[in-house]
Amino acid sequence: MALGCSNFRQAGGNYNETVVIRGISCSPGIAIGIITPVEPAKLHSIPDHKAIDRDAEEAVFQVAVTMAKQELRSSRERMSTHLPREVLALFDVYILMLDSGKLNSETIARIRAGQWARDALSDSIRELVRVFERIEDPYIAAKAEDIRNVGRHILSHLQREAPAAGSYPKRCILAGTELSLAEISSVPRDLLAGIICRNGSALSHIAIMARALGIPAVMGLTDLSMDDLEGCNVVVDGNQGSIYINPSPSDLVEFEQCLLEGQAMSAQLEMLSDLPAETTDGVRIPLLVNIGIGADDLSITAPKYEGVGLYRTEFFFISRKTLPTEDEQYRLYRNLLQTFLPKPVIIRTLDTGADKALPFFSINEANPFLGWRGIRFTLDHPEIFLTQLRALLRANFGLDNLQVIFPMISRVSEIDETVDLIERAYQELMAEGHTATKPQLGAMIEVPSAVYSIAALSERVDFFSIGTNDLTQYLLAVDRNNPRVQGFYDNLHPAVIHVIHDIVARAHCQKKTVGVCGEMAGDPASALLLLGMGVDSLSMNPSSLARVKWTIRSFTKQQAQVISGQALTVENETGIVDLLNNALLEAGLGVLIRGGPCVYPDLRH
Ligand code: PEP
Ligand code: MG
Repeated sequence: MALGCSNFRQAGGNYNETVVIRGISCSPGIAIGIITPVEPAKLHSIPDHKAIDRDAEEAVFQVAVTMAKQELRSSRERMSTHLPREVLALFDVYILMLDSGKLNSETIARIRAGQWARDALSDSIRELVRVFERIEDPYIAAKAEDIRNVGRHILSHLQREAPAAGSYPKRCILAGTELSLAEISSVPRDLLAGIICRNGSALSHIAIMARALGIPAVMGLTDLSMDDLEGCNVVVDGNQGSIYINPSPSDLVEFEQCLLEGQAMSAQLEMLSDLPAETTDGVRIPLLVNIGIGADDLSITAPKYEGVGLYRTEFFFISRKTLPTEDEQYRLYRNLLQTFLPKPVIIRTLDTGADKALPFFSINEANPFLGWRGIRFTLDHPEIFLTQLRALLRANFGLDNLQVIFPMISRVSEIDETVDLIERAYQELMAEGHTATKPQLGAMIEVPSAVYSIAALSERVDFFSIGTNDLTQYLLAVDRNNPRVQGFYDNLHPAVIHVIHDIVARAHCQKKTVGVCGEMAGDPASALLLLGMGVDSLSMNPSSLARVKWTIRSFTKQQAQVISGQALTVENETGIVDLLNNALLEAGLGVLIRGGPCVYPDLRH
């Protein structure tokens, strides 16, 4: 099957012919459906009017804010059975923004100065958005989008229009310049097949929601014209980040076939769920899960997992208005440990900064990825760090399945300071009459300098976990979130695989285990390579487990070692991808090859 842009005729402006538009892949999978465009209330085309009655305009504005809040609350309610708690919290973020003093006070000040409500709101939103857009950071840019969305919610109520009302086709592909949480929630879950958006990025709340719902989404489609879209057939390729408007009948057949194959494979993979991740010569490798956002109801899924390889605590912090207290954190961690008992749970301490800023803690830096991130931030805020450590030690009492890992380690002294704080937390708890158990400790290897500190770190920690997302970004000097340089970001770059090989050798030389918990672990081709390199465990998004397990069960450990040995002799990433893809093809796993045309539905085992 050869699906790609070359199969399609390019056309500009109208959609009588097939048009292929490239964007950013924000949620994987293929969806075929009918476009339903959402025309949002336009903040930019409000006519200039003077307020005739300023009190009345202010009252109208207040009512619109209240109605927008109500609408978001009912959207939240509607989605509560489909979305995990962390993602539902995004609605609360919007409701909070509606309550935001600045937006309300500035709009009211403008009304008081004589503008009518719509114009005052539009100016306030645009001013706030401008502040965010001036900063060249994808996370902050995503915030500007949120503000515009909130503005449009209020505006639609000022204009007395219900957003995104109406009936939807089966296999509805929602399209918009910018979509809001409420607009997506208004489509019944069984009808919504995909999401396409002119603006937006993988970091936006819509992308987070799409991933949590398991709906393919492509955003950043800057060439998408919103005219004449209604009712068009479209294929959303959430893996490659492309859309195909009006695909030809034969292309459609090919994509449908691709979807069917995916469903058939899902059924096949389903059968693997009770089998271990074991090579054909009997070597087992633990497959763990990464959770922290978008997690399912864990009491249902936990029995299927071998343990948690990475629990990202920052999402619990980010979804709140204020810092969580020790007791709140204790309850969260305790529940997690109990749910997985006796399986291991690796909880990572707060990894904030850069693209994961705390909403209530503003940090302004020129180079946030090289700045106040992870352990650097928490060591500079011992009051925050100690609270978290105390909660973790208390949660581990009597269960003892906790392992704690520290992010962004770049020097040995960071672990020394951390170990001192853990000791202090433990002593404090004992003195206060609490019960607590010290956990095993680990260091993330995600900054190149840490690789060369493994011997010294080994004297202080029990295990290592490679964060390939950041390691790749720092080794290749490529911002992991910048679409302009995505072509340079590849964790199969020879330098990355050589450094991973080196990390494993150094850790094993110190008799320490080393896992991989970056996205790379969930890619079947890369997992084969990591298996061959002797990595001790792989931790990934639950949706990747079945495919990786299938890969591991298709090779001997020795075959994997030979393949990874060969990969280390190749001098560019294309050669490495070809080598791994050929190995998968020869093993009859062609559907799992890297960069393959078909993406299959999420499989949670
Ligand atoms: C990583 O960097 O690979 C990692 C697992 O951490 P995060 O993606 O949360 O930065
Ligand atoms: Mg990281």
